Amino acid sequence: MQTDYIIVGQGLCGTLLSYELMKAGKQVIVIDESNPFTAGKVASGLINPVTGKRVVKSWMIDNLLTTAISTYKELETRLGVTIIHPWDILEFHPDAQHRDIFTERTPQYAAYLRIDIEENAWKETFNFNYGIGGVTQTMIINIRLLQDEWRKNLISNDSLLEERFDMEQCTITTNKVTYKNISAERIIFCDGSAGLSNPYFARLPFALNKGEVLIAEIPDLPRHYVYKNGLKIAPWEDDKFWIGSSFEWTFENTLPSTKFREKTEWQLRNWLKLPYTITDHWASVRPATVDHKPFVGFHPGHTSVGIFNGMGAKGCSQVPYFAHQLAAHITNQEPIMPDADIQRFTRILSKQ
Ligand SMILES: Cc1cc2nc3c(=O)[nH]c(=O)nc-3n(C[C@H](O)[C@H](O)[C@H](O)COP(=O)(O)OP(=O)(O)OC[C@H]3O[C@@H](n4cnc5c(N)ncnc54)[C@H](O)[C@@H]3O)c2cc1C
Repeated sequence: MQTDYIIVGQGLCGTLLSYELMKAGKQVIVIDESNPFTAGKVASGLINPVTGKRVVKSWMIDNLLTTAISTYKELETRLGVTIIHPWDILEFHPDAQHRDIFTERTPQYAAYLRIDIEENAWKETFNFNYGIGGVTQTMIINIRLLQDEWRKNLISNDSLLEERFDMEQCTITTNKVTYKNISAERIIFCDGSAGLSNPYFARLPFALNKGEVLIAEIPDLPRHYVYKNGLKIAPWEDDKFWIGSSFEWTFENTLPSTKFREKTEWQLRNWLKLPYTITDHWASVRPATVDHKPFVGFHPGHTSVGIFNGMGAKGCSQVPYFAHQLAAHITNQEPIMPDADIQRFTRILSKQ
């Protein structure tokens, strides 16, 4: 079977890249094993333009948001489902210092921050001492639904091979890639945290981190907001809520832990005044990088082998922008932004 490109992995990266390449008239075969606990299956899907203790705008957020919104809207139309939920964040300040920084930043980031939240309306629902700020232009992207619906689309186009990709069965030359009975011009790895054990890209400075989440029923909590106080409570499927998450840079396994569950439930009981029932507890690994920038582009020594990875905790905002850029690079030789292009690691990747 002949195709233009083989894509390994159908998380958010493989989904958006295959979408962009097919939109450009290219043929792709996506190879993905079905794994229910990938980063893209357990992520809350939040895009938050202003974050952190210092309340600063995320890297490139204005450009990323424009492309993300237009791409997800295109996909909504194409797939006939709702992917974008424009829900604001209610940020419960953890201390007076955070409240003061947030208030100071508000005039500068007037498009994103609000300090006029009606706090009394939340006194019956949460315990809080330092007030509430609002973050707007935030949204939840239902990336589980997007990945599921895109998978159906790939299957109906005979473009999905549901299996674990086996490097042993792949032959790569300068201008041709053969995997089992499939021949392609190039192969692009969108394999998330598995990228760290990919022989072509294992030298890249990944900084994988584990994140755990709880899924809960909280019948009396209004939906249409994301609540944040160190912990994040975000609306989830089936009228449930997503509660998380942890960031662990050293971890022995990728399984849910009792430690996380106990700590999170303790935090929740101190914050939320409403009854809740935990229904699930999941863990996964974020494919983050040391310099917090994505890995995009082709191997300097093996030009038929590409990578689209390293989205860390910001996949929902970054993936559409860089998928578009990588597809334009592949089809029209347009440049990849140097901050994201893996050419910045040419020296490391060229070592034997
Ligand atoms: C707890 C948690 C919370 C998060 N919250 C957010 C959030 O709110 N907002 C946000 O923007 N981001 C969030 N993220 C990050 C986001 O999930 C990631 O940036 C994004 O999903 C990464 O997409 P990916 O396609 O690179 O990787 P993945 O989603 O991991 O997809 C990789 C795919 O490759 C497949 N694969 C790997 N190896 C092989 C192989 N050998 N053969 C076949 N298939 C293979 C896997 O099965 C998988 O389908 C969160 C992550 C976690 C863990």
